[in-house]
Amino acid sequence: MNEKQAIVVGAGLAGCEAAWQLARHGISVRLYEMKPQKYTPAHKYKGFAELVCSNSLKAMRINSAAGLLKEEMRRLGSLTVACAEENAVPAGGALAVDREKFSDSVTERIMNEPLIEVISEEVNAVPEGNVIIATGPLTAEGLAEDIQGLCGGYLSFFDAAAPIVTFDSLDKDKVFFAARYGRGDDDYINCPFTKEEYLRFYNEIIHAESAPLHDFDRPEGCRDDFTVYEGCMPIEVLAKRGEETMRYGAMKPVGLTDPKTGSRPYAAVQLRKENSEGTLYNIVGFQTNLKFGEQKRVFSLIPGLENAEFVRYGVMHRNSFLNSPKLLNGDFSLRSRPKLFFAGQMTGVEGYMESAASGIMAGLNLSRKILEQQELILPRETMIGALSRYISDETVTDFQPMGANMGILPPLDEHIKGKQERYQAVADRALNAFEEYMKDKK
Ligand SMILES: Cc1cc2nc3c(=O)[nH]c(=O)nc-3n(C[C@H](O)[C@H](O)[C@H](O)COP(=O)(O)OP(=O)(O)OC[C@H]3O[C@@H](n4cnc5c(N)ncnc54)[C@H](O)[C@@H]3O)c2cc1C
Repeated sequence: MNEKQAIVVGAGLAGCEAAWQLARHGISVRLYEMKPQKYTPAHKYKGFAELVCSNSLKAMRINSAAGLLKEEMRRLGSLTVACAEENAVPAGGALAVDREKFSDSVTERIMNEPLIEVISEEVNAVPEGNVIIATGPLTAEGLAEDIQGLCGGYLSFFDAAAPIVTFDSLDKDKVFFAARYGRGDDDYINCPFTKEEYLRFYNEIIHAESAPLHDFDRPEGCRDDFTVYEGCMPIEVLAKRGEETMRYGAMKPVGLTDPKTGSRPYAAVQLRKENSEGTLYNIVGFQTNLKFGEQKRVFSLIPGLENAEFVRYGVMHRNSFLNSPKLLNGDFSLRSRPKLFFAGQMTGVEGYMESAASGIMAGLNLSRKILEQQELILPRETMIGALSRYISDETVTDFQPMGANMGILPPLDEHIKGKQERYQAVADRALNAFEEYMKDKK
């Protein structure tokens, strides 16, 4: 491979976007894809950019997180947004597609691009040179092991995540800031329960409905109820062990004094900062496999979370993703090997379009590195810029994958009351910042 060539591994949403951007900037690309010789447990179709589950690419309106993301992608010359619009099926305000036609369109354009050579082969080790790895949440084993070695063990194979809520949506009259036993700064937000509130919560959680689990979603050796795998025990499974179990685990009140009552609450849920701006908080110890609607219903019984906005629900599924804040730069390159980039779900962005967007950024930035141009990291006010910063934010400790949401953008300077109006102002600010930043970039 000469200096002006690149390798992209994985022709999923991220890999196709990355290869497309490289080619658009005059870089010749070898794109490796193991299909049709080998399929992950979720992939079935022969074409590229396969949508493995839902056929929805979410909302189109610009004053929504998903709509804003797609608009920024469109402005960057996104292949997947163009192909999705051509193959859209009616879905109200959402952009949904005929998944096979969508995949065929992407495949055809990639195949017809003279600067892209497609190689149908599984890759078992990270190649040398200018490389983008975009092999997704179900990366084949050999390559996953090599990445694991290269990244010092910072690759997770399983995502047991707790829900994340926005700070703005918490009831500040009910919660209080404090660290247990006053150790350290007041790093946690505490939600205090009375005995009655706790018993109600307990009764709801033990009867709440769980999501079905695919075989490939189970961590090795794990049975249906996760009894073998203590480390990722869902809160609802713990709760079913007995009325008191949560009070001795994730909901223990020891070391906490509620300033309103001057005494220790009967139980407490703690929330921990998810990003350096403090706009997002995760519910500590609440990894869960409950259905999303059930999470909203039951977790809204936590005092202070009655009107909480959930930007990410808890999940328990197989998901190979890097501990990116320890490893990646905001341009998606590996800090320890600057010509090696990662893209897609494995960087800890979550969702079809988020994966595709990170592919655009990795492709753009690798082409800029090859052409000796300055890196491109969009402003933090944009959705893509905020995601790039989230995955590379060194202050994040307990990293969980994140999709596009309004909570990762910096708050507006002025307070706008209505949600629609507020989101419109946030979107306007994002697109203005985008245009301003891109003005002098080639
Ligand atoms: C079961 C499941 C359901 C999901 N459902 C949704 C959903 O409904 N909505 C949503 O927004 N997101 C969903 N996601 C999350 C995420 O958006 C998708 O996984 C998305 O496809 C990720 O894009 P990607 O480009 O990172 O990876 P992928 O689209 O998975 O692409 C990776 C490509 O790399 C190839 N590959 C893997 N290993 C190798 C190798 N060693 N050598 C060569 N090629 C290789 C694969 O065959 C694949 O084509 C789901 C994820 C999973 C696992």
